[in-house]
Amino acid sequence: MAAANGEKGFQVPELEIKFTKLFINGQFVDAASGKTFETRDPRTGEVIARIAEGDKADVDLAVKAAREAFDNGPWPRMPGCARGRILHKFADLVDQHVEELAALDTVDAGKLFQMGKLMDIPGGANLLRYYAGAADKIHGETLKMSRPLQAYTLKEPVGVVGHIVPWNYPTTMFFFKVSPALAAGCTMVVKPAEQTPLSALFYAHLAKEAGIPDGVLNIVPGFGPTAGAAIASHMDIDKISFTGSTEVGRIIMQAAAMSNLKSVSLELGGKSPVIVFDDADVDMAVNLVNMATYTNKGEICVAGSRIYVQEGIYDAFVKKSVELAKKSVVGDPFNPNVNQGPQVDKDQYEKVLKYIDVGKREGATLLTGGKPCSEKGYYIEPTIFTDVKDDMSIAQEEIFGPVMSLMKFKTVEEAIQKANNTRYGLAAGVVTKNIDTMNTVSRSVRAGVIWVNCYFAFDPDAPFGGYKMSGFGKDMGIDALDKYLHTKTVVTPLYNTPW
Ligand code: ADP
Repeated sequence: MAAANGEKGFQVPELEIKFTKLFINGQFVDAASGKTFETRDPRTGEVIARIAEGDKADVDLAVKAAREAFDNGPWPRMPGCARGRILHKFADLVDQHVEELAALDTVDAGKLFQMGKLMDIPGGANLLRYYAGAADKIHGETLKMSRPLQAYTLKEPVGVVGHIVPWNYPTTMFFFKVSPALAAGCTMVVKPAEQTPLSALFYAHLAKEAGIPDGVLNIVPGFGPTAGAAIASHMDIDKISFTGSTEVGRIIMQAAAMSNLKSVSLELGGKSPVIVFDDADVDMAVNLVNMATYTNKGEICVAGSRIYVQEGIYDAFVKKSVELAKKSVVGDPFNPNVNQGPQVDKDQYEKVLKYIDVGKREGATLLTGGKPCSEKGYYIEPTIFTDVKDDMSIAQEEIFGPVMSLMKFKTVEEAIQKANNTRYGLAAGVVTKNIDTMNTVSRSVRAGVIWVNCYFAFDPDAPFGGYKMSGFGKDMGIDALDKYLHTKTVVTPLYNTPW
């Protein structure tokens, strides 16, 4: 990948889009219908490439390939250490292409190039390595039976998996799903989001180069109600792993139930609280909350989008938060001095602006931001509301944009009650130096992950997934392997005694 001097004093990579077709049974192929769809650059709204548009017929072909690879191919049968070696090679290839991959996610999703280069892409490779190391440690247990029987369990791959992923973290979501499923010995069909298909297709190419056998990993870009729905209702898919909106999660679960009762895991929306107590260092807390709200332009399911600040430091916190938000540099995500790029597409951009409007109409006070900040592209100013009430739409619904809602509280009990006043339960943040407060809040807030004096502290070994309407089933950690494994019990009489 050559780099050219950008007009504005920073380097914009010259990017060639190499992979635009579906990846089925180890080959890049056109869609059966011959149809294609556009993927656009959110910096300008211009078309980057036309991508083959997968639909039911293509999903059928991909599932057929995955089924054959599962039923008769080497992948589920080879020793775990052999799968692990291939996954390590895949990870090394990802690292070798870090700049090109980060650039693909930047032009497709508007993500900061530096962030992709330093976090998303190496993080994806590290997830592969984590599960590569687990692939030869998958085993059942010997059971202690109550009668003269000998029994043990086997852990077996669940079969053909359908992964449906969203657009906000194209690389991270891809590896959240495929890494444990590959390590477990499953075969799969992945549908990337229609907004961001580019890096997934590149990963297919690298997987083949690493030696993953044909048919094990198939990629079918396309739209939700067509390609996605075909996966959810397919009779020959054994498991579906989905990350996206709560609304679509419900549709997918229904389709799974109405077809072959495939097992389902869902990582859905969030409205994550961050609770800042009076004893916090105000500057540290302001920085943490700024990061929790605005990272990836707020397009994160775990974004800290309800900020509860204790009354003693509330005024100072609000003042400093506004100052910091105003310093944020919004602009071209290739520019290393920029903190915030464009929203992923026009729909998302309009949705965020609509929520800002609703916030104003419902009586919240807009302290800063609230407007688009570029002639072209989908840029929105970092926005802060105060006087937000618990029942306002901006305090209850997932905005998925750079919008901070600040609220005041008095006691620990009140903070817990407010934090739990949501249908979601994905993540929560706590900022305090008091260990009792920390312990009480960590155990009382109903969310899948609690970050104390930190935020977005993800790690391959830390299971991640929601409570309540944020879904069920974990990504990451050894827990995620379980999603892709069946437990089989084998029983035999002991000592030839009658049982
Ligand atoms: P977001 O709100 O983040 O765009 P969605 O839930 O709409 O999230 O989309 C997440 C993923 O689900 C995407 O890959 C999208 O194409 C897919 N999807 C959307 N609608 C459906 C559907 N009816 N059935 C299956 N997948 C769908």
